[in-house]
Amino acid sequence: MSLFPQAQLNAAQQWIVHSAHGGTLPHSLLLWGQGDLRTIAQFAAAAYQCEGTPRPCGKCNPCQKMENGIHPDVMVVEDSAHKMIAVDVVRQLRQSAFVMPNEGQRKVYIFPDASLLTPQDQNVLLKLVEEGPRYCAFVFCVENASQVLQTLRSRCVSLYAGQDDVAQVPPCDMGVALCQALLGKKGAITTWAVKAEGQKPSRQELEQILQDGRQLCIQALAAVQTQRSASNPVAQAMAQGLGAQRLSKHIHTLQLYYNQCAYNIGVSHTLGALAIELEENP
Ligand SMILES: [Zn+2]
Repeated sequence: MSLFPQAQLNAAQQWIVHSAHGGTLPHSLLLWGQGDLRTIAQFAAAAYQCEGTPRPCGKCNPCQKMENGIHPDVMVVEDSAHKMIAVDVVRQLRQSAFVMPNEGQRKVYIFPDASLLTPQDQNVLLKLVEEGPRYCAFVFCVENASQVLQTLRSRCVSLYAGQDDVAQVPPCDMGVALCQALLGKKGAITTWAVKAEGQKPSRQELEQILQDGRQLCIQALAAVQTQRSASNPVAQAMAQGLGAQRLSKHIHTLQLYYNQCAYNIGVSHTLGALAIELEENP
């Protein structure tokens, strides 16, 4: 199978192309979900290295090297000798990170199964992700985002990259209501936040709401960019009512607040702050 699908890109790939185009592709990505995350991670790595448009173009020299699995500045971090990834492997990686890329614009580290990183590994990586050279990029893949430490997770942008049919588990009611509010008049988000707060959601429930809302926005963005209709009616309405730019802004905002749920935040405070941010940046 080609790394660069001729036909349809899935929602995660659409998001990567869109972010690369806007110059907002984050330097640390956490891909999560069930399915072939490794291929999505390589697609993201190609987007970091690509010299064409749209990124990844699938045609330029770096893209071709990605396709053939021979790009010298894209490293897949595995440790076949041990059950978990040994800390020595991560320490070596850290050393190599400070050596400039051979030929690429970036040096990309892919972790096809980040659940094999021990807490010790993750603590070594934490500093590198945060303070490493600007040319470094990291792509972590896990089935469930909670399989990596909250501290590491909070430094990554997490992106659902699983199979589309898994993503089509019906979104929760408040997640749908959030998206309807995004489509509504001024004040609709505040009304939504007050209603959500009245239901006294737990931190986990808030996480679910934000995740479902963001997922619907991603589906809507994919629909805009592929010019086909989204299967979810609310996503379809957003695709028609909000442009790619607004959708992508909402995706980033919801991601930010979703990441904050990893900390010991107050739910009502978070809802209030989110409402203000979304109302001020429609
Ligand atoms: Zn390219």
